[in-house]
Amino acid sequence: MSKIVCCCPCPWLEALCERLCNSSKKNLEPPTQIPEPDAGEIYTALWPFKARADDELSFQDGEQFRIYKREGDWWTAFKLDRTGKVSAKGVVPKNYLARRQTVKEQPWYFGTLDRFETQNLLMAPGNGVGAFLVRQSEKNHIGCVLSVVISDREVKHIKIHENQNGSFHLDPSEMFESLEMLVEHYRREQLRSGIRLTRPCARPEPKPQDLSHQTVDDWELPKEEFTLEEKLGSGYFADVYRGKWKGMVNVAIKILKKNESLNQRDFLLETQILKKLRHKHLITLFAICTSSVPFYIITELMEKGNLLSFLRGEEGRDLKALTLIEMASQVADGMAYLEEQNSIHRDLAARNVLVGANDICKVADFGLARIVKEPIYSTSDQKIPYKWCAPEAISHGTFSIQSDVWSFGVLLYEMFSYGGVPYPAFSNHEVFKMISSGYRLPAPNKCPSHIYDIMLMCWKDSAVERPHFTELKTLLENLWITESSHDTSDPAGGVS
Ligand code: ADP
Repeated sequence: MSKIVCCCPCPWLEALCERLCNSSKKNLEPPTQIPEPDAGEIYTALWPFKARADDELSFQDGEQFRIYKREGDWWTAFKLDRTGKVSAKGVVPKNYLARRQTVKEQPWYFGTLDRFETQNLLMAPGNGVGAFLVRQSEKNHIGCVLSVVISDREVKHIKIHENQNGSFHLDPSEMFESLEMLVEHYRREQLRSGIRLTRPCARPEPKPQDLSHQTVDDWELPKEEFTLEEKLGSGYFADVYRGKWKGMVNVAIKILKKNESLNQRDFLLETQILKKLRHKHLITLFAICTSSVPFYIITELMEKGNLLSFLRGEEGRDLKALTLIEMASQVADGMAYLEEQNSIHRDLAARNVLVGANDICKVADFGLARIVKEPIYSTSDQKIPYKWCAPEAISHGTFSIQSDVWSFGVLLYEMFSYGGVPYPAFSNHEVFKMISSGYRLPAPNKCPSHIYDIMLMCWKDSAVERPHFTELKTLLENLWITESSHDTSDPAGGVS
């Protein structure tokens, strides 16, 4: 689907030609956008990509590009052939590219990555002992870290020291001018642990944040562009299917059930806001289909379904407390972003968190609670999820980010009881009476005491005394660091 540049091998002439030819058309590039012949840095593709729209470029990993225009997540670029001549011009996803002749181009350099994600990536089948990556720790003061598989269960994280003169070392007796030289050295010579670096960690392909660059602004799409495949689940409000957009991009298709209670205008306005919310721990909204009922909501697909069923299933039952802490900190991270955006969830619970590859957790159904669920909740007392609701939300309908914090406490209870039901023996009204008179859920079996302390903080009577999500995130991350340094023999245990 690439657009072939037929006559002008030079980017500058090509741009000028195109500008002259199209001078009567709208949306012309302003003159300042015409690149100099050699302007624009060269980037290398790290993964292959298949174009999804006419003006996007398909490419293979290793192909090179000169960037023409940077705009959001999609850049306009000239594809270069082996001799460096322009062979095509089109739009490319920026997260598939790395700047040439920088460390970012190296197959072992993973950019900013936390320790949990690193371990998950390195422990994936196919890596094996000696597989490694170099990353920037999420904690600024730690800087660069070499993470390497040292046994079938263990990853070692070693801080890479950078000197003021720009050299790098693991051990002050051996200095290297660049990270590349350091890595090459430890591919030949053993690390202190006796392990030699073997292959770079397998690198998962990034997921574009949009179906294509054309759906960044135009995301009210016709239903015909989607095909339904297997049914993934069914809730009170929607049936959810695995599906495809234009037969090529995997998506989740949520078909709303109670369309009569929806106002199309409100729905469009609300989704407009949701579309702008982007965070690695929030489900990405790709598109909506509202030209006829039932409405569709199209989101990214999460392979392992909802967290509640996951925790109750085979894989979830075996999770260690350390992994649960990490997953909870991911949810807190997504919620901290919503908090920062002045958005509230209103229905935070394990059933509304989705789990993907490498056990990554993403908060789903945010915002939509008001427009899709509230009309139904308010018409039937039985449907209000009382057991997750803060007392002020039940008594006065006061939903806020602080009432979401209460729900997060209940979500922690669900996680550390491996999908247990809160207040199992009580009705909604009994629960409201009990919590109003000071009763709180007991700690689940084997729940770390620090985690139960966090639950109790979330269930403070007074909303303003509850912690913010940013604080919850930090508390959980610190707890994870402390627990993981007990859990490993890694001498660089503080490296995260
Ligand atoms: P409702 O809002 O009606 O409760 P949900 O949005 O919770 O419906 O979806 C029902 C079920 O479908 C979920 O519990 C989950 O198992 C599955 N599901 C929903 N969205 C996705 C998704 N993006 N990827 C994978 N599975 C999903």
